[in-house]
Amino acid sequence: MSYKIERILLSHEQIVNRSKEIGAQISKDYAGKRPLLIGMLNGAVPFFAELIKHIEGEIETAFIKASSYAGQTCSSSGSVVFTGDLNLQIAGRDIIVIEDIVDTGLTIKTVCAFIREKKPKSIAVATLLDKKSRRLVEVDIKYVGFDIPNVFVVGFGLDYDELFRNLPYVGVLDSSSI
Ligand code: 5GP
Repeated sequence: MSYKIERILLSHEQIVNRSKEIGAQISKDYAGKRPLLIGMLNGAVPFFAELIKHIEGEIETAFIKASSYAGQTCSSSGSVVFTGDLNLQIAGRDIIVIEDIVDTGLTIKTVCAFIREKKPKSIAVATLLDKKSRRLVEVDIKYVGFDIPNVFVVGFGLDYDELFRNLPYVGVLDSSSI
């Protein structure tokens, strides 16, 4: 089965330019601090890598992965297990969670609750993409790359069946190929 990209939604240039803007904003907001940026595996890796190039000042980086328990129904609200850099000192730190996309909001809500249990000084979320129209729970997203419509997108870290993460742009997958 071969999948097709119907159209490019966000070019590589648009993503880089927006990452520069967000990086500049984070540099300002965290001037004199040393935030810990936590990237969500696997999807946020390209955005994370682009974004940190544009942040001035001291930062630290880490990655975690949130997966639903195997055997449970495939809903985003199912129990979530965390793996990755879990032994980090989060208490008292300024945390910025980096996501690829926020859709219903359930994943990022669970991630933030997990981090909040570890008593950070502050917690903020940066996401490349935001599908606001799909939100089921209220979440506070401080830095949004792009608001996008309710279409299934791939590329720049986002996958379909583990494919397309390597595309340098964000595209809409041809629905007839899904
Ligand atoms: P949530 O609904 O919990 O906010 O998002 C759950 C997850 O669904 C996201 O982290 C992402 O992996 C996936 N997701 C939501 N919308 C899309 C999309 O348009 N494309 C891709 N590839 N994944 C998506």
